[in-house]
Amino acid sequence: MIWCSAPFCNNSTAKGYICKTFPKNPERRAQWVANMNVKNWIPTDRSYLCEVHFSPEMWERRSDKKPKLKPNAVPTIFGYWLTEKTAFRQTEDELPLTNSTQNEQNFAESVLNEEQNVTDQEHQTAAKQERKKKLEKALDIQTKRLLRIQRQSKALKDMVRRLKYVISQDKYRTALKMVFNEDQIKALCNKRRTVKNWSNKTVERALQLKFICGTSGYEELLRQNMPFPSMRTLRRKLENLKFESGISKEMLDFLKLKVPNLENDTARGAVEPYPDLR
Ligand SMILES: [Zn+2]
Repeated sequence: MIWCSAPFCNNSTAKGYICKTFPKNPERRAQWVANMNVKNWIPTDRSYLCEVHFSPEMWERRSDKKPKLKPNAVPTIFGYWLTEKTAFRQTEDELPLTNSTQNEQNFAESVLNEEQNVTDQEHQTAAKQERKKKLEKALDIQTKRLLRIQRQSKALKDMVRRLKYVISQDKYRTALKMVFNEDQIKALCNKRRTVKNWSNKTVERALQLKFICGTSGYEELLRQNMPFPSMRTLRRKLENLKFESGISKEMLDFLKLKVPNLENDTARGAVEPYPDLR
């Protein structure tokens, strides 16, 4: 056990006090002794002074907080009133908090809290921006999809319109077919209301009409844009009637039957150039 050599001090290592040996340097050692204010006393190598005699500034501030005297430290605190440890060990961390330091700490804490809040906000902002990006991307995709659908919708509407037109055309065509032959329908679609080669069916119908209605009646039908061969075409057809393989036997018989009984001059005129038809 090591006891303190200072007068009026009975501190020891056993009581938990740090005890320091006297310096080897004679000048410093002499200063220590002088400060102890003890006459006729010479320290030995086994003489010690406890920590309470050194003021706080004599101690090094260490990160590990282990008390270590500065190399040039000198003891300055002596007296019989010394009963307690000095405050050297109390680093600023251990010192009781004054109002100001309390305020400072509060401020620091508030700043830290703010910092934390800022950090949170930053995180939130970053998260929001991330979400915003994702939403914008999703919106972009949906917009493109919508445009694609709109294009498809328009294409489908066009198709429906075309199909309706085709169907309507087909309807009219069906209606036309009930009345006219194919070449007649073709002639109806022509600006000149004629075709290059009239079918034998149409020629037969035209001849029937001409003989029934007479030349003037047939011409009236042509004036009303009915799709039939012109008088000239009909005459030519009649010229070549013998050689027309397509003209039916019934038609020839009809013509032969019809012409001899013709009472109408106009109708007779239609077959005038063809004596064999009379
Ligand atoms: Zn002491």
